[in-house]
Amino acid sequence: MVSPLADDPARFVEDALEGFVDLYRDQVRLVPGGVVRAVPAPRSQVAVVVGGGSGHYPAFCGVVGPGLAHGAVVGNVFTSPSTADAVSVGAAAAGDAGVLLLTGNYAGDVMNFTLARDELRRRGVDAHFLVVTDDVASAPVDQVEKRRGIAGDLVVFKAAGAAAAEGATLEQVVAAATHANDRTRTLGVAFDGCTLPGADAPLFTVPEGTFGLGVGIHGEPGIGEVPACTASELAGLLVDRLLEERPADAGPRVAAVLNGLGRTKYEELFVLWRAVRARLDAAGLEVVAPDVGELVTSLDMAGCSLTLVWLDEDLERWWTAPAHTPAYRRGDVPTSSDASAAGRDTAVEDAWPVAPADSEAGGPRVVDDADAAEAPVVVAALERVVGVLTDLEGELGRLDAVAGDGDHGRGMLRGARAAAQAAAAAAEQGHGGSACLLDAAHAWADRAGGTSGVLWGAGLAAAADALAVRPAADPGARVAALVRAWVDAVATLGKAQPGDKTMLDSAAPLADALERAAAAGDPADVAWPAALDAGRTAARATADLRPQVGRARPLAERSLGTPDPGAVSLVAVLAAAAGRDPQEAALPPAGADGAQGGQGREDVPDAHDGAVGQDGQDEEGTR
Ligand code: ADP
Ligand code: MG
Repeated sequence: MVSPLADDPARFVEDALEGFVDLYRDQVRLVPGGVVRAVPAPRSQVAVVVGGGSGHYPAFCGVVGPGLAHGAVVGNVFTSPSTADAVSVGAAAAGDAGVLLLTGNYAGDVMNFTLARDELRRRGVDAHFLVVTDDVASAPVDQVEKRRGIAGDLVVFKAAGAAAAEGATLEQVVAAATHANDRTRTLGVAFDGCTLPGADAPLFTVPEGTFGLGVGIHGEPGIGEVPACTASELAGLLVDRLLEERPADAGPRVAAVLNGLGRTKYEELFVLWRAVRARLDAAGLEVVAPDVGELVTSLDMAGCSLTLVWLDEDLERWWTAPAHTPAYRRGDVPTSSDASAAGRDTAVEDAWPVAPADSEAGGPRVVDDADAAEAPVVVAALERVVGVLTDLEGELGRLDAVAGDGDHGRGMLRGARAAAQAAAAAAEQGHGGSACLLDAAHAWADRAGGTSGVLWGAGLAAAADALAVRPAADPGARVAALVRAWVDAVATLGKAQPGDKTMLDSAAPLADALERAAAAGDPADVAWPAALDAGRTAARATADLRPQVGRARPLAERSLGTPDPGAVSLVAVLAAAAGRDPQEAALPPAGADGAQGGQGREDVPDAHDGAVGQDGQDEEGTR
């Protein structure tokens, strides 16, 4: 299989975007992190910002325009955009009525867009975030929240965009998107794999003579293989499976999308559509405004998906409402033709300013004198963290390589370095300790890459908020509150449970110990050794667990006997931040702790099921 055409595979996305924006300059313009409409909607209109990795065109930048999205965040191929990208596009697209962020349900997208939502709110933009979960193959019907988002993305984006164009409030647009997602189901089928730009082999293959039923849009495994069959037989398979999930209260009217995945000819889709139509007719359904063509693709994957939307009056109005975007048109929409090119650029800049970053808005961010005095404390703590991670980089990488991808040491060090630099720069500008830590959090999330990077960013941002709380508690209680804020934020964003074999498994006991010490009034010299001992013992005990989330999950068995890298690094980072001897964070020898834990939840599927591709790549994961 030939890899997609590229000048420089590393610049594939940038080059493609440049070409795209040149072609559709009347409709879209580039902003950092993605594109927004060239001619902005009225400021009173809710902005709908969609996003995800590249490789899915027309999703996501191809559906920006009147009646559909106001902006699209564009990540690397099959990789989630960063939080900063999503914040940038969200801020550029938002008028005065708030912004709804929409992505498919993938771990990297969920984490980055959740953080982006929080950051937009912090900047005064009313923001919401929803995920699309239409793929029936990715989890059973009683676990809809674990399902991936595939071609149903378009339906949900369209409902949200149409509701926004009607003048709905943010709350109503959120309700429209939620309702559309509830009533939309998709099943895909792959005939042949896809190849990443620059790669010399396909990401996955479909065995000769078979179809991969339910394969996701990054080659994630599906329901299974079926023998290759005719169009009519395939139509029967797809329609019948989707009809199984017909809601009890559904009427006879359905919208349908027959979506090409990248390397299936339109004529083939038309042949299949003919058969799908016959099957839907036979089921007594009335098909409303069907779409057949490439809408959400998977690079050059051969295959297609069928989406059914169980319509009611609102959904039918949103589905049939006009839209005018580079890749998707329906009905007549006033277009940009009445805006002159010259006038447009100035108007756009005036109407859609990118909100300044916190550090650029006004003078120094300082809570009070104590906060100002803490700036150098925060900087010094982060510098010590860089030191300890420099020493541990290799070891953490080795732990991560056992069942993961070996990048944990490098990622943590990159994040910590960026964080320390950002904090120092903020301190230099006169910001207080909490603001320094917040900038550090953003830098960490943006630069570290990997799942742990986004989570550490979220944890540190929450700790920064805790640092700013006034009246300030006594030092022991304050430190405990900081660590607790980190734990809560990481748990909320990553949705890992105790025993899932993550950094939470050492962080939570450590936080508990700090809280106990604070309640007892223990001084730091007593509190920290006890807390670090609890943390390192718990980190050691993760060796007995099987990972239930994250990149290591597919190789869970191989991970048995090795402690979780994130759990180990967490204890080391906190020891360094507290200025303790690194030995206090060193793991006790195996077996020295009585090995509590060990109850990995084998029966519970990954909270982020579908986010991991067959090659172990964290699809739509984090950079
Ligand atoms: P990646 O897995 O993307 O390569 P890293 O290797 O830097 O990222 O980090 C891996 C660590 O991230 C794991 O050891 C685990 O501690 C942590 N982790 C992964 N997923 C989650 C999650 N959902 N919640 C909390 N921690 C997680
Ligand atoms: Mg890793």
